[in-house]
Amino acid sequence: MKYVSTRGSDEQLQFLDILLAGLAPDGGLYLPASYPKVCTEQLDRWRNLSYADLAVEILSLYCDDIAVEDLRKIAHQTYTAKVFCHGRQYDDASKIVPLHWLSHDGAAEIGLLSLSNGPTLAFKDMAMQLIGNLFAYALKKQGRQLNILGATSGDTGSAAEYAMRGKADIRVFMLSPAGKMSPFQCAQMYSLQDPNIFNLTIDGVFDDAQDIVKAVSNDLAFKAKHQIGTVNSINWARVIAQVVYYFSGYLQATKNSTEQVSFTVPSGNFGNICAGHIARMMGLPICKLIVATNENDVLDEFFKTGMYRTRKSSETYHTTSPSMDISKASNFERFIFDLLNRDSGRVAELFSQVQVQGGFDLSPQIVPFMQEQFGFYSGRSSHRDRIETIQSVARKYQVVIDPHTADGVKVAKQHLDPGVKMLVLETALPIKFAQTIAQALGHEPDRPSAFDGIEKLPQRVKKMSLDVLQVKQFIEQNT
Ligand SMILES: *Cc1c(COP(=O)(O)O)cnc(C)c1O
Repeated sequence: MKYVSTRGSDEQLQFLDILLAGLAPDGGLYLPASYPKVCTEQLDRWRNLSYADLAVEILSLYCDDIAVEDLRKIAHQTYTAKVFCHGRQYDDASKIVPLHWLSHDGAAEIGLLSLSNGPTLAFKDMAMQLIGNLFAYALKKQGRQLNILGATSGDTGSAAEYAMRGKADIRVFMLSPAGKMSPFQCAQMYSLQDPNIFNLTIDGVFDDAQDIVKAVSNDLAFKAKHQIGTVNSINWARVIAQVVYYFSGYLQATKNSTEQVSFTVPSGNFGNICAGHIARMMGLPICKLIVATNENDVLDEFFKTGMYRTRKSSETYHTTSPSMDISKASNFERFIFDLLNRDSGRVAELFSQVQVQGGFDLSPQIVPFMQEQFGFYSGRSSHRDRIETIQSVARKYQVVIDPHTADGVKVAKQHLDPGVKMLVLETALPIKFAQTIAQALGHEPDRPSAFDGIEKLPQRVKKMSLDVLQVKQFIEQNT
């Protein structure tokens, strides 16, 4: 399998060449030269596979430069009931991503695909746990080391740390804004005692932390000398890992492999739903792919008007579904590339327009085309919608959902079609956002027993001033 950049440079790379890379040198994102197609008979054969074996089938289509036996080892090491047992008590952990139907008066209306059973209780574990093992494999093979430098406002940083902890050739330096994350999120990250994990806090906001990461990464000599890398959401391996659970959700929801199913996805950086788009391009019978946003509705606007208009950080709202507070969707370019029939010259032009003018306009005529050819629809949710949806789902189905998943359920209900099953991706568990749940339901959500008292565990964290030099020195002293 060869990989190309959405902006056209022709480098003829393979999976292992791009595994540790970020952007392509021309500023584009990597995509396979073509999507492998999956037929009905293949889907039927995959029905009885374990999640790990299903992952091997799908990943091997994209990573043919890794021996299948090695891939099998990596997938079985990653997708175990032990790693994905942290979630909902009623679920069967051996399924890794159990499908839970919300039923009322005996009729199932919406299925929740639980993607949040990993160590940090959010769907990012699904990809990050695999990446940790893939990175370790590739680094060992190449005799290299990697120092991951990142900034986080919550979910991504902790998912990365839990994926990389204890790995011999990897260190993680994660900057976070002091006092801006929930006590639960802080405890999850800062209580890690593994010597290869370094939590650094700064007195500032997330953007300040991000600026330091950018400044360090722009020092190319330092970056090369200290083997600095990232694990951001544009990483291709993260996207491909996420494709697997669309197949698993589909296979759990259906009995025959021609039936169509729709998916609704709480979206921010467009990484999760980009994987759904790829699954659909591979031939998985997906009817609709519905993008759910919160008040930060850049993507909803695009799928309704054809106009992509990014917002400045000063125009980005802080909402009660904070992991979707994004005003520029980093994976969006991958979809635009396919939408424009892979015309990389046009993609390069449009995204330079994003740099200069903050967006582009493909005109409203594109909207029915996106619906018919690609299945894309969208909707938007607000704080009030989240609270009401959390309340109504708890009342009607006796299930507590997190605020991001609530955005998904709210939007899914506007796109139901008779006879087509609707799956909403559950992107986090309610305990991570206990305050909003308490506001909606008058009590805190259940806490999975493994997390009892984590706020009281000793924390290992280093305070940094807002100073690039100090961060560089810290990295130097600890590598
Ligand atoms: C990251 C995240 C999202 C958004 O996913 P994208 O891939 O960025 O679209 C939604 N919900 C939760 C809980 C998240 O952590």
